[in-house]
Amino acid sequence: MRRSPTRGSGRSASDFGLRDGGRRAGLEAAPVTHPPWREPRLLGMPDSPSLDHLGFSSRAIHAGQEPDPTTGAVVPPIYQVSTYKQDGIGGLRGGYEYSRSANPTRTALEECVAALEGGHRGFAFASGLAGQDTLLRSVLRPGDHVVVPSDAYGGTYRQFNKVFLPWGVEHDIAAIADVDAVRAAIRPGQTKVVWVETPTNPLLGIADISALADVAHDAGALLVVDNTFASSYLQQPLALGADVVTHSATKYAGGHSDVVGGLVVTRAGVETPRGEDLTERVGFHQNAVGGVAGPFDSWLVLRGLKTLAVRMERHCDNAEAIVEFLQGHPGVTKVYYPGLAEHPNHDVAARQMKRFGGMISFQVRGGEDVATKVCAETELWTLGESLGGVEALIEHPGRMTHASVAGTELEVPSDLIRLSVGIEDVDDLIADLKQALDRLT
Ligand code: PLP
Repeated sequence: MRRSPTRGSGRSASDFGLRDGGRRAGLEAAPVTHPPWREPRLLGMPDSPSLDHLGFSSRAIHAGQEPDPTTGAVVPPIYQVSTYKQDGIGGLRGGYEYSRSANPTRTALEECVAALEGGHRGFAFASGLAGQDTLLRSVLRPGDHVVVPSDAYGGTYRQFNKVFLPWGVEHDIAAIADVDAVRAAIRPGQTKVVWVETPTNPLLGIADISALADVAHDAGALLVVDNTFASSYLQQPLALGADVVTHSATKYAGGHSDVVGGLVVTRAGVETPRGEDLTERVGFHQNAVGGVAGPFDSWLVLRGLKTLAVRMERHCDNAEAIVEFLQGHPGVTKVYYPGLAEHPNHDVAARQMKRFGGMISFQVRGGEDVATKVCAETELWTLGESLGGVEALIEHPGRMTHASVAGTELEVPSDLIRLSVGIEDVDDLIADLKQALDRLT
């Protein structure tokens, strides 16, 4: 398996937006500046540390996370608080007023993820879907149209089909790996968003982010990339031309299956198709809709991000060995992994990802019955939804994560099994898969 030659961040130092640190200038409902202990850096004082020149892991560990000035605590405290004392009416300390509008632990996470994605501003939400909903409501109005991928997380499709469609936002589904199909699905003047997952869930399809950014921008639409499967470490969509990145932080960002969360990161200077400042719109809606991440959840995701790079390298190492095993097993009929040379968009994946990730799907001989039994009869691989945690998970998309797309264009093969490769010892993971496949296929 070939690695992409690009192992750097692919961003220019000025892209990180750390100097203005995401101050919320101009937000109607959330006139938040930063607390005094973070202001010196944000005001760009000469002696203030700049993280722009640092590598990914250094930023993951330090961006937004200076030691607490009062105690020296090296980890941002969990500000488990709803409101803040005012020094006279309107005399906010550092701009904090009420924790739906802003909370220091959440600010630390938002600054960190903005730095990792090379974005302008980060926003943290109670779940991935809450972030997506807030983003879409910031941009769309009834009468608008969205292009949606033909392979996507079932809950994302459900959101477009069952929440936004009744609200008056129509969608067309396009094969996301096919740039011409996406172009053809655009309704000139009406399409406001092209939504992309890459790699896709669960078929590991690959979308060409740069090419689709051109298609979206030619139509006056925004390109949104759900970066959940790749993670901020393996792929940087904003540097490739995307306007917004979303994450289910529940997955690789959190990384330990102990928190549900969502992240949205905007690129500097992006306007909505109606000419509004996108960052301000999302900031306004984050506060006005209120689906924010709580302080403890923010703290957990921030802790997860610190080890993202080392975890992703191990997820990728293990995945590559498991792909090789599956390809050699007679009970396996097809393996889906973007690192395989025969993957239809392997070259695009190699260009835009550092490595190919920890997610694998495969089909088995014997149909749905065998697939569900394999899922049930592994021991080290836990049968469960979700992905991106340190522990290996196995699931049957047709009956579990993607049950909500049954009977639609997004329906997945019934003999498909999806693996979220953990960071356990790979020999143990392979031995467990082998015993189940040997017996059942
Ligand atoms: N995007 C992808 C690719 C997902 O896999 C998921 C959830 O599985 C989501 C978005 C939604 O995130 P959450 O479950 O945190 O709301």
